Amino acid sequence: MKVEFYKHNISQADIANAVAALNSVILTTGETVAEFERKFSQYVGCKHTVGVTSGTAALHLSLLAYGIGPGDEVITTPMTFIATANSIIYAGATPVFIDVEPDTANINVDLIESAITSRTKAILPVHLHGQMCDVKTIREIADKYHLVIIEDAAHAIEARRDGTRPGELGDAACFSFYATKNITSGEGGAVSTNNEEIAEKLKKLRLHGMSKGAAERYSRRYEHWDMEMLGWKYNMSNIQASLLLNQLENIEIYWQRREEICHTYEEAFKDCQNLNYLKVLPNSKSARHMFTILVPPEKRDSILWQLQAKGIGVAVNYRAIHLLTYYRQTYGYERGSFPIAEKIGDSTITLPLYPKLTDEEVRYVIQTVKEVSAEYAQD
Ligand SMILES: *Cc1c(COP(=O)(O)O)cnc(C)c1O
Repeated sequence: MKVEFYKHNISQADIANAVAALNSVILTTGETVAEFERKFSQYVGCKHTVGVTSGTAALHLSLLAYGIGPGDEVITTPMTFIATANSIIYAGATPVFIDVEPDTANINVDLIESAITSRTKAILPVHLHGQMCDVKTIREIADKYHLVIIEDAAHAIEARRDGTRPGELGDAACFSFYATKNITSGEGGAVSTNNEEIAEKLKKLRLHGMSKGAAERYSRRYEHWDMEMLGWKYNMSNIQASLLLNQLENIEIYWQRREEICHTYEEAFKDCQNLNYLKVLPNSKSARHMFTILVPPEKRDSILWQLQAKGIGVAVNYRAIHLLTYYRQTYGYERGSFPIAEKIGDSTITLPLYPKLTDEEVRYVIQTVKEVSAEYAQD
């Protein structure tokens, strides 16, 4: 049996929307992007959404919009995809890592205050695998020290915790519509915020700092545009937006199926020796972006390769990023800097999780994971 690591969920309805976008005059940022932004804002419960070309662009522009740049420090987690920390470097600032919680692998809020210096300007928490961080506490700390919160919500569109959701307590929440994310346009991203001034700034920053987009320049009597600030070329296109509209409408149905699969995994693995998994906290709705198991670090790679050999698509999300060559060399991090993130990074294996996964495939994954990990437990 072969179980793919991921299958996207693009339907005939999504394809029909894309065809309509391709048959229209404006392929770049226009009314379809605006429609997606309105509907996405409604879904996440934020006043404004700005569509961009990737989650990385969303993070980069959010930092710039809040004036974060050279000389500034941003506190973040080493247990994430490199985009999180790289975006801080793009802005010219310095990523400052702190360790994570063992149960969720999310940033440990108890360690934030000890990492704050006179140069700290922002906190960039990541809602890993869809479990939200403790944003309430992060908000209290941010208010005390006058810091900005940029949430990396790439995994967490559908998430809730303590009655809040991404973008509600943070100053901006960044989403990704990359090929394997919960809804996808192949590549794409968005920033949601309740701050109108920041939303306006983001709209300029995503298009070279231009005062008018293409749709505005060409759909009426020609209007001259100005460049008011240096921006980037990160604007979402109508083609990307067209693919997202119908997926957004069905987002809870897709989530429901992933939730069901995760419950089946959790039920199957809860009494296994030598095998653990990251937890969803009781007061939370996880967006269920990924399901990861934790195995003994010295056996992780063997188990990973065995699962692969038995036809199961697997991945590692993530090895702690402070140990990657660039981060070691540039910032002097070494093994031992963040022991919990390192341990999780050395133990984690991501299993298949997507709505198209069948019950039969889920059973095969469970059975194979149990067999392989039991085999290794004996040596
Ligand atoms: C996918 C992802 C990003 C970046 O998104 P892109 O759209 O690929 O640029 C950022 N942070 C996390 C945690 C991600 O998983």
